[in-house]
Amino acid sequence: MLSEFELIDRYFYRPPRANGPVQLGIGDDCALLLPPSGELLAVSTDMLVEGRHFFAGANPHDLGHKVLAVNLSDLAAMGAQPIAFTLALALPLADPTWLQPFSEGLFQLADAYGIELIGGDTTRGPLTISITVMGRVTKTDAIKRSGAQAGDELWVSGTLGDARLALEALQGHRALSPELLGKACERLHRPTPRVSLGLALRGIASAAIDVSDGLYGDLNHLLSQSSLAATICADDLPLGEALASQPTDIRYAMALNGGDDYELCFSAPANKHQAVLAAGKHSKTNVTCIGKLDLGSGIQVHDRNGAMVSVSNQSFDHFTENLSS
Ligand code: ADP
Ligand code: MG
Repeated sequence: MLSEFELIDRYFYRPPRANGPVQLGIGDDCALLLPPSGELLAVSTDMLVEGRHFFAGANPHDLGHKVLAVNLSDLAAMGAQPIAFTLALALPLADPTWLQPFSEGLFQLADAYGIELIGGDTTRGPLTISITVMGRVTKTDAIKRSGAQAGDELWVSGTLGDARLALEALQGHRALSPELLGKACERLHRPTPRVSLGLALRGIASAAIDVSDGLYGDLNHLLSQSSLAATICADDLPLGEALASQPTDIRYAMALNGGDDYELCFSAPANKHQAVLAAGKHSKTNVTCIGKLDLGSGIQVHDRNGAMVSVSNQSFDHFTENLSS
């Protein structure tokens, strides 16, 4: 059986990179970071728990990818450049057949963004994976939830709803062709953090949030912090390929209330419409204008003919459990 320190050494230690902001990584009581002078450190934590966020027996390579991706998504929504992360792991067993693919999935994504694992904690316990990411951003570039203005356009990146559809298909609640199920599962298990879009939107977006619990609920957070209302057209919501094959009511419900999308929902002044499209192009990320913001509160949804679409806020809450997840 591997000891705790052999495990860290074998699966998580990498020699530090020279000349980066990481002055000291894994191995001491703390890591030491030197953020570029004048920049702020953006910090965020997200945790995945077996049986709650992922099925028991989930593919460890996918888990390594996803736990880092969902954290990077928060940095993306802030317009921050990722630097480094820590990893807190509770494991039932020190199982090399789990640890090897998990660390490969994790480092594959870390390497794609040039970021380093600088520390963490390892303990025995029910499988729980928590990452804290650190990024850098200047005070003026940080894109907060509170910066939206009345009259701004509302945008979303990528596509919505396929992750939720995959979850329901895996639970046996919905049928999908093997091809569409494969595409939807890719969205559920290996989300793409929109880091390059977040960076490209600096100085353009007025507010942003990443869509982790469903567009409706997450947009509500942005609106309440900006003290505004939104009007959105349900037929303008960009749908994943699998969801596009479903009937209208399912399409609306999953695009609006499905979770695990990890897209960015953001606002920008109407006169920056072309600049937003250019940021999308530059970052090779589709961006779609889905509505606009006004004085007031709440979200009104209509279809392409102007008829109101009734939606309840069914975004997931771990303590009220208003959706089974
Ligand atoms: P301490 O007892 O001071 O908290 P530990 O003995 O738990 O330190 O950890 C030793 C070193 O290994 C520390 O630098 C810590 O940050 C790092 N470490 C522990 N677990 C992990 C992990 N899962 N991933 C990366 N680094 C880790
Ligand atoms: Mg420790």
